[in-house]
Amino acid sequence: MSQPVSEIHAQPLPFKAETRQLLNILIHSLYTEREVFLRELISNASDALTRLHFETLINRDIVNPEAELAIWIEINPQQRILIIRDSGIGMNADELAQNLGIIAHSGAKAFLEAAQKGDAKLNDIIGQFGVGFYSAFMVAEKIEVESRSYRPNDTPARWISAGEDTFIIEPADKSERGTTIKIHLKEDAVEFCDEKRLRQIIKKHSDYIPYPIYIGSDKEPANRRTSLWRQPPHQVGEEEYRDFYRQFTLDFQDPLLKLHLAIDAPVQLYALLYIPASPERTPLGLRKEEGLKLYARKVLIQEYCKDLLPAAFLHFVDGVVDSEDLPLNVSRESIQSNRVMAQIKRILTNKIIDSLKTLAKEKPEEYNRFWVAHGRSIREAIAAEADLDTSLQPLLRFHSLNHPQDWISLEDYLMKSPANQTCIYYLIGDSPKSLENSPHLEIFRSRGMDVLFMTDPLDPFVVLRIPRYNGHDLVNAAGEDLKLPKEGSAETSQAASSNEQSNELIQRFKQALGEEVSDVRLSSHPLHAPLRLVMPQGALQPEVQKVYRLLNQNFELPKPILELNPQHPICMSMLQIPPDSPILQKTIDLLYQNALLVEGLHPNPSELAPHIQELIQLALERTSYE
Ligand code: ADP
Repeated sequence: MSQPVSEIHAQPLPFKAETRQLLNILIHSLYTEREVFLRELISNASDALTRLHFETLINRDIVNPEAELAIWIEINPQQRILIIRDSGIGMNADELAQNLGIIAHSGAKAFLEAAQKGDAKLNDIIGQFGVGFYSAFMVAEKIEVESRSYRPNDTPARWISAGEDTFIIEPADKSERGTTIKIHLKEDAVEFCDEKRLRQIIKKHSDYIPYPIYIGSDKEPANRRTSLWRQPPHQVGEEEYRDFYRQFTLDFQDPLLKLHLAIDAPVQLYALLYIPASPERTPLGLRKEEGLKLYARKVLIQEYCKDLLPAAFLHFVDGVVDSEDLPLNVSRESIQSNRVMAQIKRILTNKIIDSLKTLAKEKPEEYNRFWVAHGRSIREAIAAEADLDTSLQPLLRFHSLNHPQDWISLEDYLMKSPANQTCIYYLIGDSPKSLENSPHLEIFRSRGMDVLFMTDPLDPFVVLRIPRYNGHDLVNAAGEDLKLPKEGSAETSQAASSNEQSNELIQRFKQALGEEVSDVRLSSHPLHAPLRLVMPQGALQPEVQKVYRLLNQNFELPKPILELNPQHPICMSMLQIPPDSPILQKTIDLLYQNALLVEGLHPNPSELAPHIQELIQLALERTSYE
């Protein structure tokens, strides 16, 4: 802040351009729920009180240190005046000018972008954008803000504007700390001079503001203020939980999960936790950061405490934690090393995981929504080895060969598998669609066996961390030497039908591919495709190779084993061609590259194009001389 605004108070100051636009829209809006302006002003007052509260924890040198932390609302119906006053942190002249004029409001940009899209429902979104202080201009002809900062040496100041292009700042005479907002209501906004109406609005939008809101001379606050989390869970209705979440976050989507805990041992603890429906934080919501709101014995200790849940996978959980066992002087540093904090963290983590498991059992559809929204965090935690006690594994979900549209768990997979199946089979690929054509699935499809599709970029890392689940090995369906359960039928392996011709075919492939493959042989089980690639045992797993390939284009692939289906028409035709024919070499080359492509292991898929063109040309030439 370069020039102290208090020295130039005689001049009207221009609003920031974005703010002007915002004001223009708000003043002329036909938005019917104008009442939300009160929510915004009360929320600002509440923030100012919280900031003051934090200040008092470290600083005794403040104006009116003993003043009650509260919000007061007064009305004067004759003059159509509504006053909202708080004993919060306050602002000096500079801060008034900066906060209410010079700096663009945090939500203005997003709001204006939505407005510019020509959204016909603009009026509907005003309520959902926390448009802040300026929303008061929906009901105000003129607003005066008088404020006195908590800093003893700051002088009080007044901000005045009629919501047009400018505002003025002037000295004021205010002895008490905090901010008073005096709204001169528009003629059509007299309803906001009615005590009953104000009470109703506060109940609806600001019931859980933690500071008392007094209306007129009433000694009883108009808001419940009660810590909902301190009430016995059986006494709280679903509607109340939902209202609390809305007022706490300003997230208009209902949460996916709610968890209310009141525990006495091993630590005393109240917690009210929510899992939001969307993984993205509502940009204009009230919760600006990740973390839980932490109280010790009803005193707010931290607005966003990140130490109460494992950051690796439960960072999306929002809510309040309150414990009688935490010392009031628990400071930022000691929170991390505090034994009670560690206990609370363990309890919360286990309870959330348990609730998710219950949700999956009782409301699988809801759980799927959770998985789609937040599954990435769970995968990340397992991949990063944050899940050492394996408690997250049951939360995993996959699409599969037999259930391409559903999300199934490892447990579901086992339940639906025949008793003699000892492994959990999976296949890694880019998408369920691309996997469906994989030759590795043929044998499974023909036997009706299921294979999990690992199509998330993190899945390869996830399977590396889960070699076994409930006594069942996780086995890559694309691996060498698949040991499938014995099948009673007369299914013969291709190896059994081996003969001289097959040997000839193998020789031709070996010759054409040379060092590219570590071996060529007949497939150990029936195949519809002409060939498939498997990885020799001991080589880096294909999933790891894929990752290496992503990280490094020049990564040398380990040499795969090529398995042939000699009965495939292509293979049979290949035996008809003279061994030295150029088309033979090209065909083998292309088949090999094609197989790499199917495995998602081709280093440069676009290389295929000229080969295909060449082959087309050869085919056309042949046709023309036939
Ligand atoms: P936002 O609250 O989203 O930042 P607003 O336009 O509502 O946007 O308020 C702008 C700023 O003005 C706030 O960030 C805060 O610093 C300050 N402010 C608003 N109301 C008060 C108040 N009652 N007491 C102290 N500061 C306030």
